[in-house]
Amino acid sequence: MNIVTLKPSKEKSLLRRHPWVYANAIERVEGKPASGATVIVRAHDGRFLARAAYSPHSQIRARVWSFDENEPIDHAFFKRRVQRALAHRQAMVSGTGAVRLIFGEADGLPGVIVDYYKEDVAGDNARGQLVCQFMAAGVEAWKEAIVAALTAATGCPNVYERSDVSIRQKEGLEQITGLLAGDEPPETIIANENGVRYHVDVRNGHKTGFYVDQRDNRALVQTHAAGREVLNCFCYTGGFSLAAMKGGATRVVSIDSSGEALATAQKNVQANGFDAERATWLDADAFKTLRRLHEEGERFDLVVLDPPKFAASREHVDRAARAYKDINLTGLKLLRPGGLLFTYSCSGAIDAELFQKIVAGAAADAKVDARILKRLGAGVDHPLLAAFPEGEYLKGLLLQVL
Ligand code: SAH
Repeated sequence: MNIVTLKPSKEKSLLRRHPWVYANAIERVEGKPASGATVIVRAHDGRFLARAAYSPHSQIRARVWSFDENEPIDHAFFKRRVQRALAHRQAMVSGTGAVRLIFGEADGLPGVIVDYYKEDVAGDNARGQLVCQFMAAGVEAWKEAIVAALTAATGCPNVYERSDVSIRQKEGLEQITGLLAGDEPPETIIANENGVRYHVDVRNGHKTGFYVDQRDNRALVQTHAAGREVLNCFCYTGGFSLAAMKGGATRVVSIDSSGEALATAQKNVQANGFDAERATWLDADAFKTLRRLHEEGERFDLVVLDPPKFAASREHVDRAARAYKDINLTGLKLLRPGGLLFTYSCSGAIDAELFQKIVAGAAADAKVDARILKRLGAGVDHPLLAAFPEGEYLKGLLLQVL
């Protein structure tokens, strides 16, 4: 049997149901657990704490599967966890063909993300597509069981893997993509989210193909877009741009440095039958373009800033803070009085409090009075485990300039 015994008093976080065991909390390891093998985690006094997946190469040396002493980790365990995750989505999420079915720690399956896309076609023979990212040794070892549980619970036979994420290096795992079950995915799947159709390229798109986490925020932009001129920075395949067009924006200017993403965005305009004249797509650096637009005297009624993760880790927080301040400063200056700024950060290393400070600093430097109308975050299919604040990454603010 594989047993991990912790140093004295290192059991505290596990008793609070935090699901990670750091290497420096471990006193000794008995047995020779392979990568991903199940270990029993004990307190220094020998008390059972959890069953966890061992990861010999990672600083996060074990990730908890279960705090229940009587729960073995087997195929039935994964079936239960997958079914529970699915039941939560079925009860809580509607109106979308793009949903996160499994969100790692929050679903008791640390290290795995699964998104589901459903083709937007009439009738009941719509093609479904599951897309997975396995990012830790435990879920890698149980991949087959998780995939079997997913296809059984959803009835969707098609599963594609997008484990091309650098974080796997820390687990001693190679990057890998490819078919896990069913048929090869089509070039793109058109998914309908809140009445807007989006092409999703699960093979080559970012993450699993689409930023599912911004669904509620795109819907919010849709409700505020009528009659407004909109600027969407870091638009990717046009998520917020299309939502704004659907909501009745008079003009939408979108910026991204990926020509491929912009090509898909333009296909999305067509797929929705929107007037292409209303949209301008700029293949450019957002930092420079924001400044240029401001200098040219352009002004907007609604600005969206949804940049990529600027702070990959704690060491990058200062530099990232300057980058967030830069875009927010110019974004605020580009707004007409009464205009709305939807601004986001998906850097886990920058918490909601710090993000708000950065944006407040940007408003002060822009010499505008900005009011926070709403604090924003990811949708209910991206829940945050109460015991695991590290799980929070996407935060946003809806501001209005006076
Ligand atoms: N808002 C989008 C997701 C944005 S992801 C949605 O709802 O789908 C971040 C995007 O920023 C990516 O598409 C990436 O290509 C783009 N990007 C990264 N650095 C950039 C830069 N310096 N200037 C412009 N775009 C950039």
